[in-house]
Amino acid sequence: MHAVVHSGGRASAADIKLTLRPLAETVLADLKKLGHSIVLSQAQELVAAGFGFYKFQLMLRSGANLVSRPLTHGDDHYSQYRPMAVERRASEILAIRPEAAMTIGAAVVHHMRASGLVVDTLEAYRRDDGAGHTILSALAADHTLYPPVNATVAIRAGLIPPPPTILTLRKPDQLGRMGSGEALLLEAMQKGNLYVLRSPSPEIGTEAAMSSTDEFKGLPLSRVEAKDWDNAAALGFGFTLVQKEDMVLRTGPAKSFTFHTPVVRRRKAGGWNSEWRSNGYIIDGTDRRRRFGLPERVHIAVDQLNVARFCQKCRQIYADGELDCLAHSGCTLP
Ligand SMILES: [Zn+2]
Repeated sequence: MHAVVHSGGRASAADIKLTLRPLAETVLADLKKLGHSIVLSQAQELVAAGFGFYKFQLMLRSGANLVSRPLTHGDDHYSQYRPMAVERRASEILAIRPEAAMTIGAAVVHHMRASGLVVDTLEAYRRDDGAGHTILSALAADHTLYPPVNATVAIRAGLIPPPPTILTLRKPDQLGRMGSGEALLLEAMQKGNLYVLRSPSPEIGTEAAMSSTDEFKGLPLSRVEAKDWDNAAALGFGFTLVQKEDMVLRTGPAKSFTFHTPVVRRRKAGGWNSEWRSNGYIIDGTDRRRRFGLPERVHIAVDQLNVARFCQKCRQIYADGELDCLAHSGCTLP
């Protein structure tokens, strides 16, 4: 489930506390079981550190929106949490040995992972306003101690450059070849039935879930001098493009849904490259919706969504009525 706990604007301190309460209580109970003398406010400090906020108060003040986003995508070597920051905070607030701090770091991150709660850093980045900047700045504040785990935070900390703000399709190479995802997208564009779907449910598939990707793999601290050596990052756009087609199967009329999801990726010292992931479903005439384990919500009312377009001149993907990266900016064609 990609249940939005809060979205838009800044979350109030009371909302953040309430959302984190079950997680903080689980951490509290577990650490007590491990023999630590700890109170709820200290458990809250450890959880805040796991998200990347130096202090719980800083997290409350930032107005960070929390979303439930179980790990449905991403590479195993990326983490959305910071165990070493939990260890440091545990050493500061509980009088414990370093080995015990390590155990606490692992335990807290285990429960955070199980909760599926993450700070909606991508939304903070895409909104690109004062509230978004405040959240990302709070997370970037101690980046010299611990490398960020989110691409958006690494960008805010100045560790990597931001990706291009517009979405363009690369030109085919000299032999007329292009990426398979891009070729599929262009074909769909030419049929003219592509729509912008914001915040797609991860149940639609791992490819569509990549729209919420926000990952950064920073340098180990001992290699800080080797700037740009291994700063790999991946960033989704918060939307997918859905193509809906009517078709006729032997069993009768059917509908096909194909999702084209853009992601930008950066490896080591290279620039950002965009790629498109595709996945799709066919729902047959008997409308057995769960035949493919498909959630009912995939019956997307496309006529309520904005139409995605492709500009032959500047090769931008854009949509009428959409802002930011879908705005068709800087092009002389209307
Ligand atoms: Zn254009």
